[in-house]
Amino acid sequence: MLSIKKRIVLWYTVWMVAIISLILAVLSSGSGTLVERRTKALLTGMVHERAEEIEVSQGRISIDEDISFFEDGVYMAVYSSSGNLIAGRIPRDVPLGDYPENQVLVVPGDDDGSWYVYWIQLSFASDSSARIIGAIRAQDMSIFFSAFASLSFWLIVVIAVLSSIGGYIIVRRSLRPAERVVRTAGEIAVGSDLSKRIGLGEGSGEIHQMAAAFDKMLFRLEAAFERERQFTDDASHELRTPISVILAECGYARAHIDDEEKTSEAIGTIEAQAGRMSRLVSALLSIARSEKGTLTPVRTDVDLSELGAIVLETMEDRAGEKGISLYADIEPDVHLYCDHDMLMAMMVNLLSNAISYGREGGMARLSIKDHGTDVMISVSDDGIGIAEKDINRIWDRFYQVDPSRRSGGAGLGLPIVRILAESHGGSAAVESVIGKGSVFTVQLPKEPSPSTK
Ligand code: ADP
Repeated sequence: MLSIKKRIVLWYTVWMVAIISLILAVLSSGSGTLVERRTKALLTGMVHERAEEIEVSQGRISIDEDISFFEDGVYMAVYSSSGNLIAGRIPRDVPLGDYPENQVLVVPGDDDGSWYVYWIQLSFASDSSARIIGAIRAQDMSIFFSAFASLSFWLIVVIAVLSSIGGYIIVRRSLRPAERVVRTAGEIAVGSDLSKRIGLGEGSGEIHQMAAAFDKMLFRLEAAFERERQFTDDASHELRTPISVILAECGYARAHIDDEEKTSEAIGTIEAQAGRMSRLVSALLSIARSEKGTLTPVRTDVDLSELGAIVLETMEDRAGEKGISLYADIEPDVHLYCDHDMLMAMMVNLLSNAISYGREGGMARLSIKDHGTDVMISVSDDGIGIAEKDINRIWDRFYQVDPSRRSGGAGLGLPIVRILAESHGGSAAVESVIGKGSVFTVQLPKEPSPSTK
């Protein structure tokens, strides 16, 4: 397989040679007919010109001595009606026969080559008439053609060589950036170093655009790989802690198998850690499904007002431990065709955050509103709030603003809220002022959009 450079040069040279050959062919055939036409025109023109100059005085032909009967290669002669030469001369090797008048004829010469011959009658007042004959050597075009052909051949060879050398230099120069793209791509493929960039810099050509697009793609790939790696790291880390605790508690329980209180305490811890693991694994599963596009809500008609009240009730104890008052701002009879468990998980996550990051003795409010086409669920608190720099990152998986203030979660609560909202064709957003509190809002369309059906 030829390289792209060689192929371009080859095509370009073949094309160039073809065009030049065509031009030369047209030129050579055109010039042949042109020479012939010019020669014939010269002959007839000259004969007529001389005929005009011949006069008759007292019944005799009078020819001025100044008249030249050889000009521009045309030989001319005047003959009387009886065939006697009166003036001028026609070379001896031109055979003179009874040719038709007023017509240029090609006749082969006695020696070599051929002649164009032309004659006209000179008519005078008296009966006697004379004729003027002209002859010119026909150009031997075959010599011209063979010279032209050999010149053309060498011309084409020179053009082919020069154009392929020139073409190669131009193509090599313009494809140099592309080679860099190929080299970098190859290095990445072999070494799997995604931090490499082609870095062609500014430029408006296609290859610069391609390199810039390639760099952008690498940047995104690198970010995606990094995210993936971080995700696996975080997930393993989060799972390792409860597993270690469970294993330690199992050992402890076995060592105190006869002590009912200690065994029960250990089982309690194991249960709590297993519960944490279970929540973590379900969250990871939801994330995996949403990435695969297989997280589909199982929709039924859900009375959100009722569901909200139940969720608030289940959170009361936890809120109470922190002296947080729970408020309900729930419109009655708000119905939504949605996944009951997913909606419940969303509200639990948001309320649980409002308590975890709420102020001791503060408040948290769950509000559910029917906006006609949408249902708005929001959870507000007067807790620690979120700094500007973190506000967009809190939706990232495993992101925790201050891991030392761990709520027992793993930084997956909010990403899950967003994933669940989006699986219903809705969205999740936050407004927060640091030190003052936060409002998390989930918007859910009432009619499921076609893309979520
Ligand atoms: P987790 O609560 O398990 O840490 P989340 O994904 O639920 O993870 O929340 C991510 C981060 O967002 C939390 O670590 C916390 O810093 C911040 N956050 C979430 N909810 C609130 C809230 N109501 N008030 C202040 N910060 C919050």
